[in-house]
Amino acid sequence: MGTAKTKTRTVRIARLPNADGVGVLCIETDGACQFYTFLEIRCEIGGRGFAVHRLGQGELYHVRVGAPEDASCECMGFLRWGRCKHVSALAALIRQGELPQRGVL
Ligand SMILES: [Zn+2]
Repeated sequence: MGTAKTKTRTVRIARLPNADGVGVLCIETDGACQFYTFLEIRCEIGGRGFAVHRLGQGELYHVRVGAPEDASCECMGFLRWGRCKHVSALAALIRQGELPQRGVL
């Protein structure tokens, strides 16, 4: 936004959720891949909730995806800008039908 360089960012599922519901997604920015584990968690306040953990780093974010007013994330980007790659990555996967809703305990 407003910068001279436009980044190309794509997201894909690297590993589908296993029996425990834990999957891996890859956010690719200008050819560089960042892997995140994700786990859908119970969410009672609108939208779908995910615990997202960047591989190789200590950061764990709780991400909520849904209607615009239901989107949230704990990362600095979202706190500052009201949007972030975690929310947009999960929203894109859901939009593409790649994250079918499963029963969440
Ligand atoms: Zn975020």
